[in-house]
Amino acid sequence: MIDTAPISLVVPAVGPTTTQSNRESPRQAARPALIENSLLAAIPRKEYRHLLAGLEPVTLTFGDVLYEPGESIHHVYFPGASLVSLLTLADGHLALEVGLIGREGMVGIPLVLGHSASSVRALVQGSGTALRMASAQFLKEFRLSQSLQYELHRYTHALMAQISQTAACNRFHVVETRLARWLLMTHDRVLSDQFRMTHEFLGHMLGVRRVGVTNAAHSLQNRKLISYSRGDITVLDRKGLEAAACQCYEVVKDMHDGPQPGHAVRHARIPATA
Ligand SMILES: [Zn+2]
Repeated sequence: MIDTAPISLVVPAVGPTTTQSNRESPRQAARPALIENSLLAAIPRKEYRHLLAGLEPVTLTFGDVLYEPGESIHHVYFPGASLVSLLTLADGHLALEVGLIGREGMVGIPLVLGHSASSVRALVQGSGTALRMASAQFLKEFRLSQSLQYELHRYTHALMAQISQTAACNRFHVVETRLARWLLMTHDRVLSDQFRMTHEFLGHMLGVRRVGVTNAAHSLQNRKLISYSRGDITVLDRKGLEAAACQCYEVVKDMHDGPQPGHAVRHARIPATA
């Protein structure tokens, strides 16, 4: 089920808001309209409009597999409200999350690096909107657009930083701090205090057994940082959750966003897990 069957098309197109287009002044027309994906939003408007012709709005559904390791990439995806996990496999069946892609990025980075196949499984972990483009067209646009190249090179670097930081995080940080980090990363991308996530899925994301997830979630709940009930997570105390997360969260966030003015610097707490 690679890349096609479970994805439903969305009509009308997601992208720039056009409802006021008949009345807008030239100055208003020059102002950036709402574009859900921030990577696309960073591209000059004229180039974006050109790209839009080849972008197809889709709805990604929780559990959809966009790519499997070793298989060809047929489309790239620019998530809007959706979230996609990159999972690396061990022994053919043990999956561990190594990257998380939402509205800040693109799914299909191997194409940017000259590879036509994915090395990881790309699994939708948050249902929602996305724009997709066929790989052949994407490669053509990528060669032509310096802005797209610039944004995708920056994003590729940030994604590599996220993946390498996640490797260290999985080795050195305890489940509770990793869960807090993962919840913050999700919170940043869904732009909502509430989202759905089952114990089983969290176990895959964190590479721990179900009981490990239960204990960590209970601890965060007892500290009144989140509420967690039957897969519904609500972030109650964002600042508290940031304090409960390992420093990996800020390291990766700064890579994506640039340093945050006035952001408090905290020292890494590294309780060894082994
Ligand atoms: Zn960490």
